[in-house]
Amino acid sequence: MVFVYIGIGIAILVALFLLKKILFPSNSFEMFCQKCGTKMDGLKCSRCEDHSKRQSWR
Ligand SMILES: [Zn+2]
Repeated sequence: MVFVYIGIGIAILVALFLLKKILFPSNSFEMFCQKCGTKMDGLKCSRCEDHSKRQSWR
């Protein structure tokens, strides 16, 4: 019975991997800002980050 659980676990992992491939085909780290539409480095947008910094300084 242990092999059945291992098989189910592997099947779930493969399914998740395929889902990730389908949802994020080319590059999962390449994202675009929802506000200004520019390409972001990582999770933060450089443009919007600058605006928020300027506002926080005032
Ligand atoms: Zn932005």
